[in-house]
Amino acid sequence: MSVMLDGKEGMEYMVMGNEAIVRGALEAGLKVASGYPGTPSSEIIERLSDVAKDAGIYVEWSVNEKVAAEVAAAASFAQLRSLASMKQVGVNVASDFLLHLAITGTRGGMVLVTCEDPAAHSSSNEGDSRGYARMMEFPLLEPGDFQEAKDMTKWAFEFSEEIGNLVMVRSVTRLSHASGNVKFGPLPRTEAQAEYRFSGAFLDPVAGPMISTGFGHRIQQEKLKKVREIFEDSPFNTYQGPDEPELLIITCSVGNLYCKEAIKALGIEDRVGLLKMGTTWPLPPNLIKKYLLMTDEILIIEEILPFLEDNVKVLAAEMVQEIGAKKFYGKHAGQIPSFGELSADLVIQSLADLLDLGYETVAQEYTDKASAAAFARAPQRELTFCPGCPHRASFWAIHNALELDGRQGFVCGDIGCYSLAALPTGFSTAKTGHAMGSGAGVASGFAKLRQFGMDQPVLAVCGDSTFFHAAIPALVNAVHHQADFTLIVLDNSGTAMTGFQSHPGLNINAMKDEVPALDIPAICQAMGARVEVRDPFDLEETQKTLNELMEYTEGTKVLVLKQACALSPEKKRVKSYNMQINEENCIGQDCGCNRLCTRIFRCPGLIWDEVKKVARIDEVICAGCGVCADICPAGAIVREEA
Ligand code: SF4
Ligand code: SF4
Repeated sequence: MSVMLDGKEGMEYMVMGNEAIVRGALEAGLKVASGYPGTPSSEIIERLSDVAKDAGIYVEWSVNEKVAAEVAAAASFAQLRSLASMKQVGVNVASDFLLHLAITGTRGGMVLVTCEDPAAHSSSNEGDSRGYARMMEFPLLEPGDFQEAKDMTKWAFEFSEEIGNLVMVRSVTRLSHASGNVKFGPLPRTEAQAEYRFSGAFLDPVAGPMISTGFGHRIQQEKLKKVREIFEDSPFNTYQGPDEPELLIITCSVGNLYCKEAIKALGIEDRVGLLKMGTTWPLPPNLIKKYLLMTDEILIIEEILPFLEDNVKVLAAEMVQEIGAKKFYGKHAGQIPSFGELSADLVIQSLADLLDLGYETVAQEYTDKASAAAFARAPQRELTFCPGCPHRASFWAIHNALELDGRQGFVCGDIGCYSLAALPTGFSTAKTGHAMGSGAGVASGFAKLRQFGMDQPVLAVCGDSTFFHAAIPALVNAVHHQADFTLIVLDNSGTAMTGFQSHPGLNINAMKDEVPALDIPAICQAMGARVEVRDPFDLEETQKTLNELMEYTEGTKVLVLKQACALSPEKKRVKSYNMQINEENCIGQDCGCNRLCTRIFRCPGLIWDEVKKVARIDEVICAGCGVCADICPAGAIVREEA
């Protein structure tokens, strides 16, 4: 049993921020949770699915974030408390539905948890989805520590029910993935009865149909007015410091932790005030006014965009007659960057400069020297596919097929481990890379440029989870418009990049029930595409098929390259082959492009023996896939059935 359910009321537990959010949801009596995996949000649905059966809740990995929001909304419409979880990029996907949901409102408490990735450690962008709260006109809460992540999530459900609207809780990597002490509250044991009422008047928010219409905007505005009033007295907005500080810091989220550390390190508790906002949209004007009146100098600290800063400035402008002119510091004035993560050092330096403290954090020159020294001593590790990864084999065949074709063909890339196809480890074959499923959509567009003289072969890639998430509509578009390109589905039987969450191509769901698996080749065939299925470890056959498909110009083609991820449970630590190098045969520097295996193919399981001047197999990490035996021109890499 997990501490999420077992944890006792009144006891403190050290949990991750995402787990604190989970416990808060369970303490609120959550009944339905849905999401799409993505770092740093994935643990929320994972932990909830671990306890789903014992807790009597329904949890799913939805096919994409829009559907996740729709599934959670249905539960809310039927009076149950529900949660949809995603990362910042997913909010873009869900936004289409959320814009409508803001109009219809919700019934059972519904919380959207967005976990964002400042500095884009595991993302293709570092979007700040707080702008959606303002655009869609729903309230936004930002926990400032681990305890608040739990308490605020719990409260968000009650609050959502009170105002009849979705509530957004925003976390960031350093809260979601760090751990802290959290005091648990009671877990309710409630029997829920789901019922969707639709026989009331058309605009009746409690018993009418949930249909988004323009008339709802007035009601939405009234709700926001009420939210502002409630936020005026929220215990999630706190102030620490003197009554008349020299400088007022306004912050939110993990900015709170960095600011506390900075104030302590500089010993300026009696000089600066710290206003930590937990309710960041809409801002409560009277509360902001009260603190702006304390001083004329204000520093605003937040990750990533100047969202809080801009909204505070709007209020300050509206109140200028009462509060007088203020001097603001932050992102616009250049003290705090509008990209990347914050740190305590960064806040310390900003405060030291503004207060003229003559304090210097570790000099940039020293940091640069230290990281250069560490880099020089650390073993070389490039961004690469794992040993035995089927994607390396796939892109080897794709690269060679394009070279053989010779018409400047290219690959439209996508989001997944295979995004590395844009780098040397994927032989630099991917030449576009945007959102989930965009490879297929962009390729479909390129393929319609034949009438304008484009005769380059066009390929697109997507993973199996991405196929279901967003590539299907692009493929429908392509087949219907007879777009001549080849979609390569890199089917490694799992949402591998985020930790093997289930998807519709598998016969298991988030709660470990057996469910029907959808057949990707059959779906593509049913759409009318020409479909081939190959094993990417069969390099020759894969390359031959690709060259044939590039020659075939009668519409859209799909090549499914099926081979499980090297880290999948069925493959991990299971070798198909024992590998060896025949040192006599290895011609090393004289083979294609100087050591073809270690310089070009670059599987980490292959290493170059500087002393003997031959290739070597690294027994510890070689996954025994056997593929490298087929790339060595000298037949020096030998495989034997394991
Ligand atoms: S093992 Fe083969 S590919 Fe690798 S260096 Fe030797 S000859 Fe070249
Ligand atoms: S068999 Fe070759 S390609 Fe496969 S993991 Fe081992 S070294 Fe890498």
